[in-house]
Amino acid sequence: MSTYDVVVIGGGLIGTLSALRLADAGRTVLVLERAVPGAEASSAAAGILAGQSESRVDGPLFDLAIESRERYVALAEELRARTSVDVGFRRCGALEIAESPAALDDLERVFAWQRAKGHSVRRIESTALRALEPRLNDGFAGAIAFDDDGQIDPPALVNAVTQAAERAGVVFRSGTTVRSVRVEDGVARGVEVEDERIDAAHVVVAAGAWSSLVQGATIAAASVKPARGQIVELSLRTPPLRSVVFGRGGYLVPKSDGRVLCGSTLEFVGFQRDVTVAGVAKILAMITGLAPSLSDAKITRTWSNFRPWSADGAALVGDAGIRGLTLATGHHRSGILLAPATAERVRAHVVDGRVEPSSPWAPARRA
Ligand SMILES: Cc1cc2nc3c(=O)[nH]c(=O)nc-3n(C[C@H](O)[C@H](O)[C@H](O)COP(=O)(O)OP(=O)(O)OC[C@H]3O[C@@H](n4cnc5c(N)ncnc54)[C@H](O)[C@@H]3O)c2cc1C
Repeated sequence: MSTYDVVVIGGGLIGTLSALRLADAGRTVLVLERAVPGAEASSAAAGILAGQSESRVDGPLFDLAIESRERYVALAEELRARTSVDVGFRRCGALEIAESPAALDDLERVFAWQRAKGHSVRRIESTALRALEPRLNDGFAGAIAFDDDGQIDPPALVNAVTQAAERAGVVFRSGTTVRSVRVEDGVARGVEVEDERIDAAHVVVAAGAWSSLVQGATIAAASVKPARGQIVELSLRTPPLRSVVFGRGGYLVPKSDGRVLCGSTLEFVGFQRDVTVAGVAKILAMITGLAPSLSDAKITRTWSNFRPWSADGAALVGDAGIRGLTLATGHHRSGILLAPATAERVRAHVVDGRVEPSSPWAPARRA
């Protein structure tokens, strides 16, 4: 039997970054990971930091997204200093494409509230769009540009966070599946793995799309479900685009080494880890619709993984309603973007005992 201040269930980005923050606060931390750190959604993601693009309504969830995006500026520098890993943080901007002048007017109206809040939102007419991104279809009326949105390299990020956490004293156990959270007299006392009991003063549930399968984690099967997403990776000699581009029901994410990650699908098929004809066909149609000039690009890889979808679209972060139990899951399509803000809330709950009942992430809202 071993004892830690905190046991974190799941070594994705949410679990590893939370573990790093807890170790920095002086806690002894054990991360239990069924496979290897970053094995699942966190390495499969496209890495878009879409704080503004695709956000349609103002409110506390938008503010959390902006806060988390801005935390990446310091986090990328911190990780480079702690590990020498470049996590590929770039404020490359994002474009939402409008197919017609009326659609461009509509999009501009949709985002007027962001400009009113002081965020950068620019209308780009078709001629300027052609000059900005010559590889895009030249039939578009224009786009809305979000210059402060950006991207990160998810595998490099998970690698850097894991390294930094190990150096800060976090212990990782790969190949270890947690069966249940052990709750006694209404208090979480640790976890049970196959044939072992691990004691801890605090347990953090960060098992991504699998979170509801952990017994005692207080997460109903209907509240966090796997939502499969497929990606097609293209490789070119030089990046064909400057910005992340959203349109035709998908996105193109240009990486600095010439790869373009193209996604994605949103499918409720349980944990079937397949790349399908229908999924790839949808993504290829999106690619050729947005940028016909990419038709002769080489397809180098395809993959799929599982977003932790949550019932009302907001993550579950913070007090689980059981002493010693913190939730950090359900980030769906935005877990990379939202990881820095999440890790700070996990640290605040575990270390300072902070409970935020009015947060849109508060697990108590499920009641
Ligand atoms: C195709 C795709 C594209 C995406 N693109 C973006 C994007 O551009 N921007 C963005 O912000 N987000 C994106 N996302 C979403 C993002 O990837 C997720 O929200 C985020 O990675 C969730 O992180 P996590 O740590 O909660 O989950 P995961 O990374 O899945 O980690 C959970 C970990 O828990 C482990 N685990 C599960 N059960 C147990 C157990 N019982 N015991 C021990 N370990 C266990 C798993 O093995 C896994 O490693 C994308 C997702 C997909 C699938």
